[in-house]
Amino acid sequence: MSPIDTLTFDLDDTLWDNRPIMERAEQEHHAWLDDALAVWLDETVVDEALRQLGRYGEGYTLEHYLQRRLDVARRHPLRRGDFTWLRERALVELLEEFGLPRSAAHLWAAAAIERFLTLRHELTPYPEVVPMLDALRTRYGLAAITNGNADLRRLELAHHFSVIIAAGEMLTPKPDARPFLAALARLGSTPSRALHVGDSWNEDVLPAWRLGMRVAWIDKRGEDPGALPEGVYRLVHVRELPALLDQLGR
Ligand SMILES: [Mg+2]
Repeated sequence: MSPIDTLTFDLDDTLWDNRPIMERAEQEHHAWLDDALAVWLDETVVDEALRQLGRYGEGYTLEHYLQRRLDVARRHPLRRGDFTWLRERALVELLEEFGLPRSAAHLWAAAAIERFLTLRHELTPYPEVVPMLDALRTRYGLAAITNGNADLRRLELAHHFSVIIAAGEMLTPKPDARPFLAALARLGSTPSRALHVGDSWNEDVLPAWRLGMRVAWIDKRGEDPGALPEGVYRLVHVRELPALLDQLGR
């Protein structure tokens, strides 16, 4: 087997625990929108009909918002991986149904998304991640490939990676092979010389393995499927990666 010269990384649930981050961002940006909109309607708006709208959050809960996102994704299959777009589009629809004029619905949706993205980037990687990447980047080309709307460029962590692929925004989210191939091409590597690190069996392990990459599967949920395909290695935490790489040699 060829020595490994390139590592590609998934981000969410690989380099940090994503669920608490998303739960907080979800709740807080929704509450922010409800509060800020109420203040705006009360203090700034002169149109009497608009002032009578009441609280947005009373009729339009987080559950409505989630359902609407799924609905928007069904109506726009090409956008299914662009979560930020889906969120904004769903919010515009809900705010218009609530009674805001279209221009105000767009402005408030954009403001709420900005709030969401700020909260979504208030995250701390696992403590082992920064020293690990510091050491790895002296020996390997490093790329990040994410479907999510975590924008690495907003994080300290960005400087560890020479290539960052936001696959959702490319409209070819994983498991599409293209984000993997784009990362390898930009690092001047090939699948046989690369190892992908990720937690999702369907979006990380299978597509990378089918390309001929080796894969470190972060089995965060303890799914342990028994026998693994050749070239797929199961880890329970990304901190185990350096030991695996040592074992695989260069
Ligand atoms: Mg992930």
